[in-house]
Amino acid sequence: MKKNVAVVGYGGQGGWHANHIMKSDVVSLSGIYDIAEQKCEKARGLGIYVYSSLDEVLSDKSVDIVVVATPNDSHREIAERAMRAGKNVICEKPVELSVAAFDEMMKVRDECGVFFSVHQNRRWDVDFLAMKDIITSDNIGEVINIESRIQGSRGIPSDWRGMKKFGGGMIYDWGVHLIDQMLQLIDEKVVGVFCETTHITNDEVDDGFKLILKFESGKRGYMEIGTYNFIAMPRFYMQCKNGSAMIEDWRQNAKVALLKAWNEKDVLPVETAAGITKTMAPRDEITLSEYEWERPLSDVHNFYRNFTSAIDGKEEQYVKNCEVRRVLRIIECAFASAEREEFIKTEI
Ligand code: NAD
Repeated sequence: MKKNVAVVGYGGQGGWHANHIMKSDVVSLSGIYDIAEQKCEKARGLGIYVYSSLDEVLSDKSVDIVVVATPNDSHREIAERAMRAGKNVICEKPVELSVAAFDEMMKVRDECGVFFSVHQNRRWDVDFLAMKDIITSDNIGEVINIESRIQGSRGIPSDWRGMKKFGGGMIYDWGVHLIDQMLQLIDEKVVGVFCETTHITNDEVDDGFKLILKFESGKRGYMEIGTYNFIAMPRFYMQCKNGSAMIEDWRQNAKVALLKAWNEKDVLPVETAAGITKTMAPRDEITLSEYEWERPLSDVHNFYRNFTSAIDGKEEQYVKNCEVRRVLRIIECAFASAEREEFIKTEI
C-alpha cells in the first residue's frame, strides 16, 4: 500500500516533491502546508489539499511521511516536531547548518524510533552516475583527481539563499550536493580540506566557492560552484592511472580517453605561438583510444521507493545519516578553511 506524504513548504522544491509524489508508485500526496497564502492558493488551484497549520499535518494520523522543504534554517524545528508526532521524515538538503544541530536531530530520531533521510537527489544525476560507472568499469584505473564544477552567470538568487540567517550561500545550496557526490566517487577518508569562497554578487554569504578535498591515498577531489561565469568549464573532469574522462555539460555523454601504450616512438612536436613542444603534443590513436560513454538511465523516484522500503524493513536506507553527517563535517571545515585561509588537516 502507498504511504501518505505531506509536504511542508510548497515553494520550488516542495512543488517538485508534490508533483513527483502525485506520480509515484509508492507514495501518495496527503496535502501541503505553507505559511504563504499565495502558495496555498496555488496548491488549491491544482486540487491539492492544504493543511491550515503544521499541527493539523502532524495530527493527521493518515500521514506516514513528512517532507520538509522550507528554507535551510527551519528544517530542524519542523523535522523534530514531525518526528515527535511519530512521522517519518524526508528532509531537504542541507539537513542543517552544523554538525551539532544535526546530532540533536538524530537524538530525536532515535528517541522517536522513526525513519529520517535527507533528499540527496543528485545521487540520481546521470552525469554523476556516468562518472561512477566509468570509475567502476575498471578500464580507466585508479582515480588521481576528480574535478566537479557547476557554473552559472546570474549571481546568487536574491531570495533567502542570499541571506545568512536563512542558511543561504552556495556551499549550503550546491556544495552539499557536490561534496556528497564526491564522497560517493572516492570512497576514502578525507585527510585535508582547503576552500576559498567568492563574494562577487553578495557580501553576506558565499556566491561561489573552490574546494579541494585531499583523500588518504593522495587522491584529490576538486569542487567548484560559480555564479558569475559567462563561459562555463566542463561539468566533470577526471584523471585516472589509465586515462581521462570528461563531461562537458550535464546533458551530454562523457568522453573517455584510454591509454593503450605509454611509450611513443615518434612524437611530432606541435607549434605554439612562441615555439614548439613535444611534451604537450596530442597523442595518436596508436597509444590512445577515445570513445563516448552513454549516460546511464536514472529514475528519481527510486529515492521514495528506497525510503518506503526502508520503513518496511525491506531495504537499507540509500542516503544514510552517517553520510549526511560526513558532508556537514566537510562543510564546517570548508568554512573554517575559507575564513582562516588555511589548509585544514582532517580525519573525516
Ligand atoms: P522556496 O523559497 O522556493 O520555497 C520555500 C517555501 O517554504 C516557501 O513557499 C515558504 O513560504 C515556505 N516556508 C517558509 N517557512 C515555512 C514554515 N515554517 N512552514 C511552512 N512553510 C514555510 O525555496 P526552495 O527552493 O523550494 O527550497 C526549499 C528547500 O529545498 C531548501 O532547503 C533548499 O535547499 C531545498 N532544495 C533542494 C533541491 C534539491 O535538488 N534537493 C532543490 C532546490 C531546493
